[in-house]
Amino acid sequence: MTEWNKRTRAVHAGTRRSKWGEVSEAVFLTQGFVYDSAEQAEARFQSLGDDEFIYARYGNPTVRMFEDRIANLLGYEDCFACTSGMAAVSGALTALLKAGDHVVAARALFGSCLYVLEDILARFGVEITLIDGCDNAAWDAAIRPDTRLVFFESISNPTLEVVDMRHVVQAAHAVGALVLADDAMATPVFSYARACGADIAIVSTTKHIDGQGRMLGGAICGSRDLIRGPIESYMKHTGGAMNPFTAWTHLKALETLDLRVRAQSETALNIADALEGHPKIASVRFPTHPSHPQQALALAQAPSGGTVLAFEVKGGKAACFAFMNALEIITISNNFADAKSIATHPATTTHQRLPQAQKDLLGISPGLVRLSAGLEDADDLIADLMTALDAV
Ligand SMILES: *Cc1c(COP(=O)(O)O)cnc(C)c1O
Repeated sequence: MTEWNKRTRAVHAGTRRSKWGEVSEAVFLTQGFVYDSAEQAEARFQSLGDDEFIYARYGNPTVRMFEDRIANLLGYEDCFACTSGMAAVSGALTALLKAGDHVVAARALFGSCLYVLEDILARFGVEITLIDGCDNAAWDAAIRPDTRLVFFESISNPTLEVVDMRHVVQAAHAVGALVLADDAMATPVFSYARACGADIAIVSTTKHIDGQGRMLGGAICGSRDLIRGPIESYMKHTGGAMNPFTAWTHLKALETLDLRVRAQSETALNIADALEGHPKIASVRFPTHPSHPQQALALAQAPSGGTVLAFEVKGGKAACFAFMNALEIITISNNFADAKSIATHPATTTHQRLPQAQKDLLGISPGLVRLSAGLEDADDLIADLMTALDAV
């Protein structure tokens, strides 16, 4: 199966059929499982075999199919599926850290991830050092012999900065630290976490895997020892396991993942091209576009920079709002990776609560728009953007 290409594995990996031989994966909406005998129940509680279940908070056949498929897709041995991307991030961090541990993380993190590190883990005695994730020398300087874990977004949100993952992995592994990559923006199709040696890839499956704005979900992918050891232990006892219906919609969504993500990333690149040099646009950011200062690194790591771009409208917040309000096809919202194209104003929504100094440091300016390219016709989207820019 590992010889099959990703697109084939996204359709078939992990499939288990019941005795009726259904074509489409079954959704097992069950919390519990019956045993043939009291002895069998006793044996399962002693040690659980690969395809044995006792309670859905510990595991469920539909969820297990999804876990196997996503682990296979990202190239990891195993996966634990979670209720949301944040359940995955907080679960992985909490399961692997203890008081006194030192963590180095890129500063350009998703707001909730920053909250987990700075407001929760710090309270339990974990020491956090935040650095500029694009600066290899900053990683080298911050990683110490007692660093237990490093954490970053492969591609940051909303400013699309790219971490040199091979460099960071090498520096972390040199001191025996674990590497956790938050892989939401890189997309499961173009993910390079495994190829670069990240020990754990965390995916908000809410994003490209659902891809149609319906479900929250998350996945922690890594070695069997980590996933079925500390991660599973923590997740199953604290109640963050994915529900079977979400796993089922995710399994069906994985069948079209490759087609959707490739189409959306091509559209994102075309939009970046169309906006580059526009008189009302100050700058455009898409990792694999020639205008991106890290294009060479982005291309060395993946053939595409994902499905999200960012650009700065000249004239600050007022001009930016006028532009957003004039959009007709592209909706104003705050998710990304949806089939529907979405424009977000990070400074006043997703990143509103960051102190101004942090916003300045991260480049979250009043004119910045994050645009998630959807599955609409690219020419229609570009026409929508141009008409809205004319309205500024
Ligand atoms: C969305 C997102 C999360 C959180 O995922 P949820 O499914 O919304 O909980 C974490 N990290 C990054 C980079 C994200 O984009």
